[in-house]
Amino acid sequence: MIYDFLLDPTHHGFKTWFKNTKKNNRPCINHINMPTRMLLESINSIDHQHPCIKHFEKKPNWPCLTSKDFMPKNPCELSFPLMIGGPCSLESKQQLTQTIHQLYPITKYIRAGIYKPRTNAHQFQGLGPAGVELIHDLKQTHHFQLVSEITCPSQIEGMSKICSIFQVGTRNMSNTALLKALGQTDLPIILKRSLSGTYEEWLQSAEYIIKAGNPQVILCERGIRTFEPATRNTFDINAIPYLKAKTNLPIIADTSHGTGHRHLVAPIALAAITAGADGLLIEAHPTPLTSITDANQALSIEECSALFNQAQALVDFLESNNT
Ligand code: PEP
Ligand code: MN
Repeated sequence: MIYDFLLDPTHHGFKTWFKNTKKNNRPCINHINMPTRMLLESINSIDHQHPCIKHFEKKPNWPCLTSKDFMPKNPCELSFPLMIGGPCSLESKQQLTQTIHQLYPITKYIRAGIYKPRTNAHQFQGLGPAGVELIHDLKQTHHFQLVSEITCPSQIEGMSKICSIFQVGTRNMSNTALLKALGQTDLPIILKRSLSGTYEEWLQSAEYIIKAGNPQVILCERGIRTFEPATRNTFDINAIPYLKAKTNLPIIADTSHGTGHRHLVAPIALAAITAGADGLLIEAHPTPLTSITDANQALSIEECSALFNQAQALVDFLESNNT
């Protein structure tokens, strides 16, 4: 697949570079962490005005493919703001049918974890292959776009038949084998920040996906671990405007995991939108208290719909005021 930005005439060198990198017959990005002199020596057959090289000369330690120099516009073929809601885990056909019925008028993007990366090995690990089958059946009669987590490359084939967006979870932000494998798909990838990942490390993970051929990366701030035990995580709102100044990749906010408490999910989500977030990823369940996983942070479907409506109104207001 050739993306618009690869063909952008202002980036004339990129298309050739991209093709050659795929064939692996021209050194460029593989040398990105070498000193500038060596990099330039090794690529003297390449246009020195190439945005990748210009970027590297300016900021040798910063990620390149995700930079605004290199990626002049958002590469994701989705419309924003992106509102994604649904249960932490897929539990049953009835649970998801009810979620779809109630959320679909507001958003067609439904989240539901099938492979769950749990901290505790003895707890529910997701429905796994049975969940894939269940979604397959449900798709015969219901229209929705599934967003779900991939925890290892072997799941990609089966999951690509039912998912519209893949998610890389917090625990896998630095799983380079997974990132490279997802880079060979052509679905958008939500890349969550790890519990202690810096902005640079997070963007470096995005580079793995893009370098492997898939520029459709959506960053997702989901809270980091701090010394504060009252909330599950601390939602880092700084990340949103900070990264928006560095990259054209979209960034969305998961304030469910970012706070861990249902009464905090909506106010922090609206704060994230105000800070410039390109969408929300929210856990919602038809009967939140019975949710098998993450019950404390689950909104009801009605609460989730109301939040998405408020968030959309806020986006409209901010856009009309040009902020
Ligand atoms: C999830 O979204 O269900 C999830 C497990 O999130 P995280 O990877 O952010 O913990
Ligand atoms: Mn969860």
